[in-house]
Amino acid sequence: MAISLSFPSGMLGAAGGVVRGLGTGLLDAVLPPRCLACGEIVEVAHALCASCWPKVRFLTEPLCATCGVPFEIEAAEGSVCAACAATSRPWARARAAIAYDDGSRGFILAFKNADRIDAVRTFAPWMVAAGRTVLAEADILVPVPLHWTRLFARKYNQAALLAQAAGRLAGRPVSVDLLRRAKRTRKLGTSGPRERAAMVRAAFAVAGRQGREVDGRRVLLIDDVFTTGSTTNACARTLLKAGAAAVDVLTLARVVRPSVIAGPSARAAGSPATLGSSPA
Ligand SMILES: [Zn+2]
Ligand SMILES: [Zn+2]
Repeated sequence: MAISLSFPSGMLGAAGGVVRGLGTGLLDAVLPPRCLACGEIVEVAHALCASCWPKVRFLTEPLCATCGVPFEIEAAEGSVCAACAATSRPWARARAAIAYDDGSRGFILAFKNADRIDAVRTFAPWMVAAGRTVLAEADILVPVPLHWTRLFARKYNQAALLAQAAGRLAGRPVSVDLLRRAKRTRKLGTSGPRERAAMVRAAFAVAGRQGREVDGRRVLLIDDVFTTGSTTNACARTLLKAGAAAVDVLTLARVVRPSVIAGPSARAAGSPATLGSSPA
C-alpha cells in the first residue's frame, strides 16, 4: 500500500498551502492520483509514494554559502566550497531544493517532458523552503527562458511554471518574460562544459521595455536544474548588464559533486585549505 508524502514535516511552515490556479480539473476527480516518480497509486495528488520518497535527497545545511553545495561535515556559517573560493561567480548565491541524481532524475524529466506538469505543486514548496533566504531578499523572480537544450521539444517553459508557483507561495512578484533567448542555440547534449559556456554566453537578453524592472533590483533567477552553471552564469551576466543590483539563483535541483570546504572559517577549525582540488 502506498503512503503519500509531499514534504518533510516541519520544513514547510507557513508556505504549506497548495499552489492554486494550476487546475488539473475534472481528471483529478475521476482518476486516482499517481506517484510522481513511479506511477504507483498514492492517496494524495502530486506526491511521491513511500518507496520513492526516501530516495529524494534534500539539500540541507551545512551548505556552501555561495553555491549551496552540501558539505558532508560540519562547517562554520559562511563557509564556502573550494570551487567557490577559487572562482568568481556572476551571481551572489545559489540554492537548490534537492540533488539531481538517481532518486530525482525520473520525476524531474517527467516534469520537463510535460508528462507531470502537476508536480509543480510539490516542487514549489520544496523550493520555497530551500530558498527562503534568497526569496526574502528578492525584488523580483525571473525564470530562465525556455530551455536551450530543447531535448524534448517542449511547448512550455518549466522554469516559468516553477517561478510563478514559488512566487505565489512566497509573495514575491514574478516577471516571466523579462529574460528572453537572444539567439538560437543548437542541441548541447554532447558538448563539454567549455563549449556549452561559449555557446550560451550570448544566448540571453533582457526584453527591451522591461529594463526598468531590473534596474537597481535584486533578481532571483529560477530554473529547474543547476548543472554546470553555464546557463545561470549567462543569465546573471545579462541581468547585471541590464542594471540589476545583484542576482541570486534558486533551482529545484542541482548536480552534487563531492565538495571540499575552503575559506577562513574552515581553516580556523583546523581543516586544511584545499583550494581548487574539487570543482563543485
Ligand atoms: Zn513511487
Ligand atoms: Zn560553493
